[in-house]
Amino acid sequence: MKTSSARLSGLGTTIFAEMSALALRTGAVNLGQGFPDTDGPAEVIEVAVDALRGGRNQYAPGTGVPELRHAIAAHQKRFYGVDVDPDTEVGVTTGATEAIASALLGLIDPGDEVIVLEPYYDSYVAVIQMAGGVRRPVTLRAPDFRLPIDELRAAVSPQTTAILLNSPHNPTGTVLRREELDAIAAVAVEHDLVVISDEVYEHLTFDGIPHIPITTLPGMAERTLTISSGGKSFSFTGWKIGWATGPASLVQAMIGAKQFLTYTSGSPLQPAIAHALGADDAYFDTFHSRLQAQRDQLCDGLAEIGFEVYVPEGTYFATTDIRPLGFDDGVEFCRTLPGLAGVVAIPHQVFYDDVAAGRPLVRWAFCKQPAVIEQALERLQVLATTTP
Ligand SMILES: *Cc1c(COP(=O)(O)O)cnc(C)c1O
Repeated sequence: MKTSSARLSGLGTTIFAEMSALALRTGAVNLGQGFPDTDGPAEVIEVAVDALRGGRNQYAPGTGVPELRHAIAAHQKRFYGVDVDPDTEVGVTTGATEAIASALLGLIDPGDEVIVLEPYYDSYVAVIQMAGGVRRPVTLRAPDFRLPIDELRAAVSPQTTAILLNSPHNPTGTVLRREELDAIAAVAVEHDLVVISDEVYEHLTFDGIPHIPITTLPGMAERTLTISSGGKSFSFTGWKIGWATGPASLVQAMIGAKQFLTYTSGSPLQPAIAHALGADDAYFDTFHSRLQAQRDQLCDGLAEIGFEVYVPEGTYFATTDIRPLGFDDGVEFCRTLPGLAGVVAIPHQVFYDDVAAGRPLVRWAFCKQPAVIEQALERLQVLATTTP
């Protein structure tokens, strides 16, 4: 009996499943998986409850309920000055994950090459492979994790179809700057490439660094599919309401694949996320200030313990180099950490083709209550005292 397709070969189980199971088994503090330990706004939950009680429990339209599509379009206009038609240039999906998968399945042919920043979000590798595509990684390297633009240019071949971007970038925390985005845009226009831009951390940049959607750059609106979701922006990661915006042709290609994967997504949750997207400025300001404070708490604590800390410009995550504490392999370190200190973290190296670049790096989530971060830091003190 055949038990697996070639499409899945080498993909294994995601590191998050392994590490979260380890956290449960050992009672460790889980700074591995990036989910908040506090719910999003109560009034948003009330809108979902009303929808559940109000009979909105059958299939939503395949592209999403109109009020959510309109709210997404209004959000793009409000924050970025981008005009999208809510009827033809917005598609709602089961999380950003499905938007990314559907975009690749809808746009990539076997043998097409996709340029992707590494360390990459783990689903990228899997769905490029499932679509029959070939990934061409461009590595963001410590200590500053900036985009090596010459390497991006060198990664383009006649087979290149798309660039899959992620900014703010998980796991490095890099927020691509205007100059970097200009350079990417120039490559995309010169080679007539599609850009698929994963912007799920759009509302989580720190220190006043702006998030700039690449679609706002000259020549990019016609070739960019911008992807986001309600999970990260509103602390409802389990709701899996995501979306893509962009030219009708690209949205249609994505929906073309999505309709046969899930057809529609979470009907009663869609009006709630529509409500959330209209939150006032105070919500977004408080949200990123709170996360920035948690970032500082975690980064200061990790630095005190002796890690080399790369302070992120955005996202839920901080990266450290573990070598100052006498370790050199992140996977080994993360497998022993629950036993050693009662904490779970995620090794970078599983997100690289260039394994050496990620070997000593470990990712820590700070989307956790200050008391939880505090407890993790207290437990990690044991590393400071047991190493030479
Ligand atoms: C969390 C995350 C996603 C997944 O978003 P969902 O809406 O939960 O599917 C996609 N991309 C990146 C970079 C993420 O960190």
